[in-house]
Amino acid sequence: MEDCIFCKIVRGEIPANKIHEDEEIVVFHDIHPVTPVHFLLIPKQHIVSLNEIEAEHQQLLGKMLWLAPQLAKKQGCTDGFRTIINTGYSGGQEIFHLHIHIIGGKKLSPMIH
Ligand code: C5P
Repeated sequence: MEDCIFCKIVRGEIPANKIHEDEEIVVFHDIHPVTPVHFLLIPKQHIVSLNEIEAEHQQLLGKMLWLAPQLAKKQGCTDGFRTIINTGYSGGQEIFHLHIHIIGGKKLSPMIH
């Protein structure tokens, strides 16, 4: 996707502070962290959101979730973290390229809203 900001990160056209990259996934620190640890896992493939996933994406999504705790621990979240996927307009999604937020590095309050 030519104009997608996360596709540009995947292609190296705009900078990101990467903490992991393999053939399918890029992981980088969020540019506006909301907690001491805040990073994003994105597929290299342009998938708009969780609403657009297909059966063929099951392995990719599983790999992203499998990587998440390993990277969270490496970033210092040894006692837990929060996983967020904003989906669509009402879900608060701003960048329409599927991404998993990992936030932590401090004690988080239970989410009630
Ligand atoms: O889930 P949502 O789409 O709202 O989140 C997008 C996230 O992407 C934001 O937390 C924003 O700070 C982050 N971002 C980034 N680097 C960019 C553009 C956005 O980390 N170049």
